[in-house]
Amino acid sequence: MLNGYGGSILRVNLTTGKISKEPTPPEVARDFIGGRGFGIYFLTKEVPKGTDPLGPENKLIISSGPLSGMLVAGGGKCDWTTKSPLTGGYASASLGGLFTAEMKYAGIDSIILEGISPKPVYLFIDDNKIELRDAAPYWGKGTFEVEKEFKEKFGEEYQIAVIGPGGENGVAFAHINHDYGRQAGRGGVGTVMGAKKVKAIVVHGTKSVPVADVDAYRQAGMALYKACKEAEGLKEWTRYGTTIVVSWCDEVGALPTRNFSAGSFEDGKNLYGTVMREQIVITDKGCFGCPCPCGKYSSMKRYGTHVEGPEYETIGMLGSNLGFTNIEDVAQANLLCDDLGIDTISAGGVIAWAIEAYTKGILTKADTDGLELSWGNPQAVFALIEKIAKKQGFGALLADGVKKAAQKVGKGSEKFAIHVKGMEQSAYATHNATAMLISYMTCDVGAHHNRAWAITYDLQVGRDKVVPEKVARVIWLQNFRPMFDVLGACRLQWVELGIDRKLYEPLLQAITGIPRTWEDLEAVGNRIWNLTRLYWARENEGFGRAWDMPSPRFYEEPPQSGATAGQITRLEDVNRLLDMYYEQRGWDANGMPTPATIEKLNLGAFVS
Ligand code: SF4
Repeated sequence: MLNGYGGSILRVNLTTGKISKEPTPPEVARDFIGGRGFGIYFLTKEVPKGTDPLGPENKLIISSGPLSGMLVAGGGKCDWTTKSPLTGGYASASLGGLFTAEMKYAGIDSIILEGISPKPVYLFIDDNKIELRDAAPYWGKGTFEVEKEFKEKFGEEYQIAVIGPGGENGVAFAHINHDYGRQAGRGGVGTVMGAKKVKAIVVHGTKSVPVADVDAYRQAGMALYKACKEAEGLKEWTRYGTTIVVSWCDEVGALPTRNFSAGSFEDGKNLYGTVMREQIVITDKGCFGCPCPCGKYSSMKRYGTHVEGPEYETIGMLGSNLGFTNIEDVAQANLLCDDLGIDTISAGGVIAWAIEAYTKGILTKADTDGLELSWGNPQAVFALIEKIAKKQGFGALLADGVKKAAQKVGKGSEKFAIHVKGMEQSAYATHNATAMLISYMTCDVGAHHNRAWAITYDLQVGRDKVVPEKVARVIWLQNFRPMFDVLGACRLQWVELGIDRKLYEPLLQAITGIPRTWEDLEAVGNRIWNLTRLYWARENEGFGRAWDMPSPRFYEEPPQSGATAGQITRLEDVNRLLDMYYEQRGWDANGMPTPATIEKLNLGAFVS
């Protein structure tokens, strides 16, 4: 019996229809703990080198952690790992909401989807009753409609994770939607689920989870809750959620504006969190066990619709980055992406690239199916989102992601395709924010912010400074922040409310019976980080330094306006950042873990 775990790994072979369970391996729980730790372990061990992300040999691995579904403030996170159809490397997306708690109560730590079903199915889990069922009546429908139908059919206590047409049609950045407004968003995890012909997973469980020390568990759990409830920033955070940073980003030049050509938006004020709260927010919404709900539920009067969101990233990528000047338009674009099942960040990135290409004459109406792709044109963007999700006409080009779209179109458009390793950069402009820039460059899934959100550190120590301390800070964040995704808990209580992370130590010990400090957890995080790097190299011939380079926009094209007008990070400084990073990580000049690092981290068994 593993304290803190559901106790089993559920394997679903979609090709044969065989469903089996095996005990969660204790040594994997010891070394990789859970969540994305389990994800990279199973991905590396079980998915053969060179696997086609959309082929039967790829696997979709959904894992909770020891804090998931427990008396833990924010213990509602699970990880979705696969080989990414967007980047060809490692994909790991975090999902909040209520899904992971039910999964754990059904006694499951990981669901591993293997093979490809001959026909559309959904996976139904109700404790020990586990079946593949016909999804033909749901195929082609939007995520909201399907979730509603399942809730009506099975009951509110059943939790649903569902793909939309984007995942069914093979959009490279399709996501998985849950609880109407929570997503496993990045890297195309929904694309893989669609390729496997799995429309949804429906889960409900009633089992208890063994805990090592119930009294200590109750005490430590309540201490964490109390700290959240008494946090100074609780009221403001709950009122605005992540939208709290829109105004700050605009002021400091980090708000992506018109395809990251600037970091301040002249109409940015219309998109600020205060404006959104006043104009469209109708209520707050949170994940399982969260005392500080950051989800904002909005009503868009001009469209007669409502949606959970938009949160900061979506406001940046589908708002200022497209030149939108009205928060209702951003929220409507958010709704379309969620319902059609595509990632708002990547959608915003690839659409911004298309608009810039159009305004420069590289694309014309003959290419865009007649759409007028100008900045601040919501109707054209709405049409484009639908075309992308359905891979229709011009949308099919964008559905492969910005890197491939720019490679196909050429004519210099590659230079303003804003991505790292094929993943569209999320919503921080990094013309002059060197810590955030190296964070994006070295992130384990591509240009994603949540591993090392270092932009405030840039402001703190001098944004253009290229010093080892900045790199060390990014590495520290990369080692420990993703550990929340390993444990199965939200990191925002620590990030936004300033909760002492030491409070998690007695809680984790009471649940699992294993004493672990954050230093111990960081060591596990470092090992996982190196393993993901080795995975990228295993899957991509020639992988190395060139893959870590950012868009030239950040080292060649200073913004013409806003807080960072005239500022860039020079190419030589970009390279200095990389040199420092590799050295501190124990990697060689090409960015690969050295034999000594592999040995020190005991990763030899994973190198083939
Ligand atoms: Fe979910 Fe937000 Fe609460 Fe985190 S802070 S658990 S993301 S509602």
